[in-house]
Amino acid sequence: MTSFDLFSYDQGARPGPVKGVRVRNVKVSVALSPSRLPGLDFALNPYAGCQHDCIYCYAPHVADRARADWGKVIEARYNLPTLLMRELRRKHGVIGLGTMTDPYQPVESRYQLTRRCLEQLSRYPVKVSVHTKGDMINRDIDLLRDMDCDVGITITTMDAELASQIEPGAPPPSRRISALAELNRADVRTYLLLGPVLPLLDREAVVSLLQAVADAGTVEVMLDPYRDRPGVEGMFSRLPFLEDERRRTRFLFDLQSRRFQMEVSATIREVGDDIGLEVIDAF
Ligand code: SF4
Repeated sequence: MTSFDLFSYDQGARPGPVKGVRVRNVKVSVALSPSRLPGLDFALNPYAGCQHDCIYCYAPHVADRARADWGKVIEARYNLPTLLMRELRRKHGVIGLGTMTDPYQPVESRYQLTRRCLEQLSRYPVKVSVHTKGDMINRDIDLLRDMDCDVGITITTMDAELASQIEPGAPPPSRRISALAELNRADVRTYLLLGPVLPLLDREAVVSLLQAVADAGTVEVMLDPYRDRPGVEGMFSRLPFLEDERRRTRFLFDLQSRRFQMEVSATIREVGDDIGLEVIDAF
């Protein structure tokens, strides 16, 4: 792992360019912003923009950013670790790391802002709740294993081809399962964030996903149904696996169907129960 000293970094040292993405270095004035998510006091997001570029992502709408730029232009909040170091002297509580963008998107391998933030967090009596799709999180197990933290990894399907269309920049589901297994071996508390629940999950697909999660040693599933957000439904129409008109019509119908969400949620709870997983509602 390359290493950039926190202070030299803050004062102008930068990693080189990252292929396939434009990275802007941005100075921010607050590290820990109040969170409105249940169970979290503060939100911490080292990056704005997200290379995982999930088709269902509504963060660009929330952040008032252009959807087309979301996966291509990333802001690296380069002074965040230094700010965090100062703020942690007076702010305590539960900190959500990755509430708006993924802290382990590919750019992190060069910029290491998430790791630098964890280095600061590990020095204070705070609880950290990390949310990611990136198996790069295992790089930081040396820090996480000694912290009061939990890690939620999102998987929406075990079908690698579908996942590559829906979450094109994220690691395939099998790598996310491996990440859960490695975190569990290190005694880091984990859970599966199953959401948004999309019309891809028949009973067989639910069993395949939950069994893989259980085999990895994770015992908790957080269920997050699909909720319609501005600008998201139109994105699904572009997916190659929905080129067939009948399939697309069915998918979009189920996507909006409360009955579908209730039925698939019931299946997830039933299968989870059979396998020995605790299934709880996300929000
Ligand atoms: S990982 Fe999260 S923030 Fe990133 S594109 Fe996907 S849904 Fe959006």
